[in-house]
Amino acid sequence: MKPSLKSAAFFCLYYSGLEYLLARVIPARAVAVLMYHGVCDQAPIPAHINFHVERDVFERQMRALKRRYRVVPLSQVVSTLAQCEPLHKAVALTFDDGYRNNCEFAEPVLKALGLPSTVFVATKYVETGKWMPLNSLYWRWSEGMLSADETADLRRTIRDQPSTETRQVLAQLSDPPTKPSQAAEESFEMLSWPEIRQMATSGVEFGSHTHSHCNMAVESDELQMEELRISEELLKKNLGRQVTMFAYPYGKLSEASRANVIRARYSCALSTEYGVITNRTDRYRLPRLGNDSRIWVFTGEILVHFVKQTAKDAWSGFFRRSPSEGVVASKTEEHNG
Ligand SMILES: [Zn+2]
Repeated sequence: MKPSLKSAAFFCLYYSGLEYLLARVIPARAVAVLMYHGVCDQAPIPAHINFHVERDVFERQMRALKRRYRVVPLSQVVSTLAQCEPLHKAVALTFDDGYRNNCEFAEPVLKALGLPSTVFVATKYVETGKWMPLNSLYWRWSEGMLSADETADLRRTIRDQPSTETRQVLAQLSDPPTKPSQAAEESFEMLSWPEIRQMATSGVEFGSHTHSHCNMAVESDELQMEELRISEELLKKNLGRQVTMFAYPYGKLSEASRANVIRARYSCALSTEYGVITNRTDRYRLPRLGNDSRIWVFTGEILVHFVKQTAKDAWSGFFRRSPSEGVVASKTEEHNG
């Protein structure tokens, strides 16, 4: 379906009240994990890249979720999966990178609504005053120091190359900018350890997002293990508790990085693949959904995924119950596994 048609359909579903009704009654055996980064207004990031969500949009989304679904801690979903117990329809909230605005703007909304969440922290930037390299890049673009093409090239290099190849680029971007605007500070400043501890006291869960926010799909095994170890140790030391959840930076993973996350004894790993979690999902490649700023698209996307999953389960359940279709049923199971 064309995006404009899809949006129009979601618009009708939302404003007719049908989406709300279906969201409440659909018996999906799946969990939608939503991926956020920062919550702030006027982020100085190219519009087609902007991964932050505006404050009023975020609050509206959280209110919509609370009215429709059970919002559960991600750790609960992971432990249900690990114990091979059936999943029930729910939503979990995740925030990648560890921005200060998670504490300043997102957490008060979540706390007021009683919604749990998980923040995946790139520990190298906690309390150092430094921004993540890509954000330094966007800031330089917003200040006119880099053209759109230069920004796109450097972005590609940082995201896709191993750190041995990007040392020079990263060194140029590593100094915190002098006199950043308020919008830039709100967008790019990272959490401090006291803020992380305060959020943890309010029930926010924390996970690792590596130490330096490297691309795990292209780094050496040694560096991957080092990144996994350092971030886990720092979080454990500062939170006083074990941290077992992990999210791949940029959502990028490989067979080797998946194996290394398991070797480092994490309980799960989140990708940026698009979809919902079911009992058949690989715990070390958990998909997520995005957060379109149009409330009807936001709610519509979640509902569509739950409806699709319910239909799939009903279809495979039908074949499992029908003895005459035994051969087809076993083939379906094999395919899904
Ligand atoms: Zn990230």
